[in-house]
Amino acid sequence: MQTQDYQALDRQHHLHPFTDFKSLGEEGSRIITHADGVYIYDSQGNRILDGMAGLWCVNLGYGRQELVDAATEQMQQLPYYNNFFKTTHPPAVKLAAKLSELAPEHVNHVFFTGSGSEANDTVLRMVRRYWAIKGKPEKQWIISRENGYHGSTVAGMSLGGMAPMHDQGGPCVPGITHIGQPYWFGEGRDMSQEAFGKQCAQALEEKILALGEDKVAAFIAEPVQGAGGAIIPPDSYWPAVKEVLAKYDILLIADEVICGFGRLGEWFGSNHYGLKPDLMPIAKGLSSGYLPIGAVLVGDRVADTLIEDGGEFFHGFTYSGHPVCAAVALKNLELLESEQVVEKVRDELGPYLAKRWQELAEHPLVGEARSLGLIGALELVADKNTGERFDKSLSAGNLCRDLCFESGLVMRSVGDTMVMSPPLIITRDEIDELVSKARLALDKTAEKLAITHPMESA
Ligand SMILES: *Cc1c(COP(=O)(O)O)cnc(C)c1O
Repeated sequence: MQTQDYQALDRQHHLHPFTDFKSLGEEGSRIITHADGVYIYDSQGNRILDGMAGLWCVNLGYGRQELVDAATEQMQQLPYYNNFFKTTHPPAVKLAAKLSELAPEHVNHVFFTGSGSEANDTVLRMVRRYWAIKGKPEKQWIISRENGYHGSTVAGMSLGGMAPMHDQGGPCVPGITHIGQPYWFGEGRDMSQEAFGKQCAQALEEKILALGEDKVAAFIAEPVQGAGGAIIPPDSYWPAVKEVLAKYDILLIADEVICGFGRLGEWFGSNHYGLKPDLMPIAKGLSSGYLPIGAVLVGDRVADTLIEDGGEFFHGFTYSGHPVCAAVALKNLELLESEQVVEKVRDELGPYLAKRWQELAEHPLVGEARSLGLIGALELVADKNTGERFDKSLSAGNLCRDLCFESGLVMRSVGDTMVMSPPLIITRDEIDELVSKARLALDKTAEKLAITHPMESA
């Protein structure tokens, strides 16, 4: 089959996730056929540096034979069995133990799911169940953040703070409310980072008091927001949030689906920020995306209550702890550990990327360049001095994303924020390549925009 054949069938039969079906049909999809290391290849022979690690997940990069072998062996041994009704199997047991070893000290139990969204469904069920067992069923409210992302199931979408998803998918699950996000460049530049971070934490306290402490079950947040635009909170944010949470009896849910497994240079984002979450939904990097698997890491406080006083928990999935997915995830963790991938991100690759990435801040189109570990963003602006954005109708972000592709690089656009999150096994040379391709795409974007929207400096 040729590219056009795939595109025709795709147009006729395939509804893509998060896609304007009609306009994709008109344009035609890019067909990715194979991949190796940090590179993906399309059906027209283009080699493209995957600056997004798939969808923030291919932490070990593509083409790892060890993961293929782990899947093959497990498929031959036991392709499927469930963990319901007092049964289990070696991969699920070993993975639960391994995750408990890697997780913060107070986290010693794991509930498996099929994805990050499912993990957040489980989180919602567990939080409410926890407070019911504790004799406080009125503690129902979960406080989340605008522009947070917690998945695309009904619970995930409701926990998340993506307005367009709420508009299409609502009414949302009741008992979830949202406060502002610690997005300094987008929403706080009229004050210092420090003051803005504290103000965002104060909004949490105000929300708790408005709802009533005895009505609030939990606060959910990504340590660094991923899908919202690689938003790294000001340094003052998490310490202040921690203080608020300590003051009131409210659970902390750290959504580690992107931050987990090395993205920030620690095993979990919570380690980087010194958080002590009660629940940690994980997925994506757990298997480096080779097979779908998610989980909730459950802290002792919640686990002990569910175990000791909960009776049967009426919740679970056919594929909770799927043996092949679990075997691949376990091998993935072993490789991350033996190759010291997480330490390399923290000590070597993260700082190197930060240095190179910061050079892009000089570009006339860039209002801010930020990164932490191997996640980062560029804010595209029409006026570098004022930070004024381009008119929305210009779709500067989408234009830049398309020009990245054309330049042999995958970056994603979130509005006019360009985000990157490459595989953690990227080399320094490949980081150099990523940065120079990003620069090339920025130049091309500036050139195209100059025609439709002449800049003052032009
Ligand atoms: C991707 C993501 C999810 C949802 O995971 P899926 O596997 O797509 O269901 C949840 N939370 C965060 C922070 C994510 O980035």
